Amino acid sequence: MKAVLLNDQALTIGELPAPERDDWAVVDVKAAGVCGSELHFLDGMIPPPFEDFVLGHEIAGVVASAPADAKVVVGDRVAVYNFVGCGQCESCRTGHESICTDPVAQLGWTANGGFAEQVAAPAANLIKLPESVSFEAASVLACSGMTAVHAARLAEVSFGQTAIVDGVGGVGLMVIQVLAHAGLRVIAVADSESRVGLATEAGAAETVVLEGGDGYEGLPDRIRELTDGRGSDYFFELVGTEASMKAGIGSLARRGLAVLVGYTEDDLRVHPIDLILGEARIASSVAASRHDLETAIALAAEGHLSVAIDTVYPLDQVETAIARLRAREVKGRNVIAF
Ligand SMILES: [Zn+2]
Ligand SMILES: [Zn+2]
Repeated sequence: MKAVLLNDQALTIGELPAPERDDWAVVDVKAAGVCGSELHFLDGMIPPPFEDFVLGHEIAGVVASAPADAKVVVGDRVAVYNFVGCGQCESCRTGHESICTDPVAQLGWTANGGFAEQVAAPAANLIKLPESVSFEAASVLACSGMTAVHAARLAEVSFGQTAIVDGVGGVGLMVIQVLAHAGLRVIAVADSESRVGLATEAGAAETVVLEGGDGYEGLPDRIRELTDGRGSDYFFELVGTEASMKAGIGSLARRGLAVLVGYTEDDLRVHPIDLILGEARIASSVAASRHDLETAIALAAEGHLSVAIDTVYPLDQVETAIARLRAREVKGRNVIAF
């Protein structure tokens, strides 16, 4: 089968044997989202697990084969939940498989992913798609959509509260929609005027546009202006620089909660007093459970979660898709389609 191969921090189009596993299903990939995490592999921040590694953890397609006892059958349209937990540990047993202590695999991270004509996955990781959800949308829901649902659930948000969403990229646009649907007032933070329209369309009540690289310094004051001096109940952090994290924490209301989702190579240094005096809380959120993906798909099918797709590329143009992501030109997600 045709596949995009990662070797020495570079991608090439090549051939691989089609996946063959009796105990797992095989999916004909129809769409695979190109995620910011791909850059971490290409920059050497995350080493690939083996040679000729296939990236792509945002996958949707059609079941090509499945074990006899599977709940999906050949021909089913499915989204692929990319995390394969051990199924035994306390996290897995309580529905928190994305923090499994002994994971079996994560497709596109530690096992071959979706930048190929076929991918293997446990049948239990395949979620049937309603007709109204396209493969392209489903692939994006299988990363940023479910991540947004997970972060909002973890924060236990409630209607009538205020949330800052820092970063109007693929995940940010999803978080804005989920929070707006849950009845929160969302203040988006964007690094350019060109993203205001997207944030508004997603449901942001206001968007703060940062001026230049130091824009975060003024963020706490601007948030207080927008909230009668109170600050925000939540801060969803998708940018992950020290400046952005500190500005968000500084923008919180008393007992506010910062939810860290994004990361860079930056550390976060904060004086305890800056947290203690307001009883500020910091939580973190990683990926999502299978149930979060099911919720994201249901929300999309009901029209509450729409997926902003920038461009759909054929497999052999994956480099262009990634170059445009790196240049921060992508509005929403680029998707590889077959
Ligand atoms: Zn992703
Ligand atoms: Zn586990």
